[in-house]
Amino acid sequence: MFDTLWIDCDIATMAEGGAPYGAITNGALGVKDGRIAYVGKRVDLKDESARETRRCDGGWITPGFVDCHTHLVFGGDRAREFEMRLQGATYEEIARAGGGIVSTVAATRAASKDELIESASKRLRGLTREGVTTVEIKSGYGLDLENELKQLEAAGALAARERVRVRRTFLGLHALPPEFREDRAAYVQLVADVMIPAIAASGAADAVDAFCENIGFTAEEVDYVFSAARANGLDVKLHAEQLSNQHGAALAARYSALSADHLEYLDNSGIAAMAQAGTVAVLLPGAFYFLRETKLPPIDAMRRAGVRLAVASDCNPGTSPMTSPLAALNMACTLFRLTPEEALAGITREGARALGLLDDIGTLEIGKAADLAVWNVNAPAELSYWLGAPLLRERVFAGAVTP
Ligand SMILES: [Zn+2]
Repeated sequence: MFDTLWIDCDIATMAEGGAPYGAITNGALGVKDGRIAYVGKRVDLKDESARETRRCDGGWITPGFVDCHTHLVFGGDRAREFEMRLQGATYEEIARAGGGIVSTVAATRAASKDELIESASKRLRGLTREGVTTVEIKSGYGLDLENELKQLEAAGALAARERVRVRRTFLGLHALPPEFREDRAAYVQLVADVMIPAIAASGAADAVDAFCENIGFTAEEVDYVFSAARANGLDVKLHAEQLSNQHGAALAARYSALSADHLEYLDNSGIAAMAQAGTVAVLLPGAFYFLRETKLPPIDAMRRAGVRLAVASDCNPGTSPMTSPLAALNMACTLFRLTPEEALAGITREGARALGLLDDIGTLEIGKAADLAVWNVNAPAELSYWLGAPLLRERVFAGAVTP
């Protein structure tokens, strides 16, 4: 006896090794105690008894979406800066007007935890109303222990409030805080020697991330912080090769990083290192679009090397103010030329792999958490084809239909 049984559906299980999309036509999916108890052909289901039976009118069920790279919790926004730039203001003028990442740091520090929860939950609803059931949220706008913890606690509070799984990532090496402008070594040391041990001890984060870039932090600085992360039992991941080749992906791979993200300037040695380490490539077409970048990540070379490709929103106020996972799928296909199947895998199975959660979520298989999205589409390719269409029929979190 199932708690809930879905019928009249086709199912994109996204499990590997079978049909494209792991597709099951004329399927049925049964849930018991928040877990998938049956997924297969309806004709093969012997006993359809269920407390509740839900019809899908021929729609498709996919795994709930896994947005594995966001900066969802922050104070303020940068719409005024966006407007100034389009009115012709220079970067200096914007900086003098208090713009740029320092403005987000100031607004985040000034906000209370409740204010951060409130503003982030609005953005999170953009994600959940398009099928997201798991979201990774990074800190990185507090840049001191108290404010980084405030951000991470706000991120954690969103889980129960919005019925979503949340993975939290400490991004201390996001930007140099203004008070350390004259002494970057002291800040890197503070992150590695004080902030990481405190955050690990309090259980406030699952992983450590860094922005390895000529306008961010050097590979040596990241190396120092990653060794502290590892010593404190935290996973690592990296913003790598977005604007230049810093050989960050290879560094991340040396630490068996869960993922290296962006990767527009990734070279062949970085690809080989990621393939060897099983580090997932997280593609962020929203940032590529918003920054009007032209250098494409080496998608085909990564494919050929067997590097797994995830797709995420990168929702953040400066470079990807996007709260639509379906738009990310469309951009992954139009800008990066992923196939619709690769894009969907990128925001389900590979997103889960990039968070180290593939054993529990990311595909529809018996025993996994019943995180589902039910769509009013005739084929899964529609999920990356339409732009702005209201396609979601039901979001199911741990077996329960939730708004
Ligand atoms: Zn990011």
